[in-house]
Amino acid sequence: QVIIRLENIQKSYFMGNQAIPVLKGISLDIHKNEYVALMGPSGSGKSTLMNILGCLDSPTGGKYILNDKDVSKMADDELAEVRNSEIGFVFQQFNLLPRLSAAENVALPLIYAGVGKKERMERSMEALEKVGLAERSHHKSNELSGGQIQRVAIARALVNNPSILLADEPTGNLDSKTSVEVMEIFGKLQQAGNTVVLVTHEEDIAAYAHRVVRLRDGLVETDKTKSTAMAHI
Ligand code: ADP
Ligand code: ADP
Repeated sequence: QVIIRLENIQKSYFMGNQAIPVLKGISLDIHKNEYVALMGPSGSGKSTLMNILGCLDSPTGGKYILNDKDVSKMADDELAEVRNSEIGFVFQQFNLLPRLSAAENVALPLIYAGVGKKERMERSMEALEKVGLAERSHHKSNELSGGQIQRVAIARALVNNPSILLADEPTGNLDSKTSVEVMEIFGKLQQAGNTVVLVTHEEDIAAYAHRVVRLRDGLVETDKTKSTAMAHI
């Protein structure tokens, strides 16, 4: 089952009236339950591509089909709706609110979605259980370690049951031991049926993924799937 289909995706930024091409024709299918690492040198277009995948930005050319919906031509308000229902984001900087507990931080997207308080707390606890942090639900972020904070951020990304989990350098601010913990969480989530796409520039982090897509200068340079990993799809 194809969740993401990119057909000849292009993105240019405009400096005055001059177009600067950043993505030059990216075509890619991502299936349900894949675990993909996006790599490439700085400036190759990874963040730009993640912003398009996450419906934060629209391509300037080509087609993006997400869960059978053509999102490439959507207006901003439609795109925001798709983003809130289909996409879970994990960022390098964790973006948690320090005064709120772990459970309250995880529940934030549900407030925006208009979910009632009781259901919010139930679903927040479920998401915290998925990342092995249920026992820390009442702690505020300043009482948590870096790895625990990133797990809260992952739980928050999961709480809407998104079709896809996107993470931009999720271990970028973590030491190597904590990075491994976080990658193991993504691995567990993939085993539980989630689809994961993450950006990293570290080879040993990318090694946790089942497929590595390398960008260079706005194009896919290589796209390699480990033969054993995808046998079940
Ligand atoms: P990466 O994440 O691989 O480092 P980016 O997608 O951040 O690459 O950037 C790719 C290229 O696009 C870079 O040359 C960057 O300077 C340029 N770029 C990114 N965002 C913008 C923007 N909003 N306006 C103009 N240029 C941009
Ligand atoms: P990363 O560390 O993920 O590669 P960058 O530091 O390249 O990210 O970019 C951070 C943010 O700044 C991104 O949202 C990107 O779109 C934007 N950006 C990058 N380069 C430019 C640029 N030349 N002009 C405007 N915005 C840019």
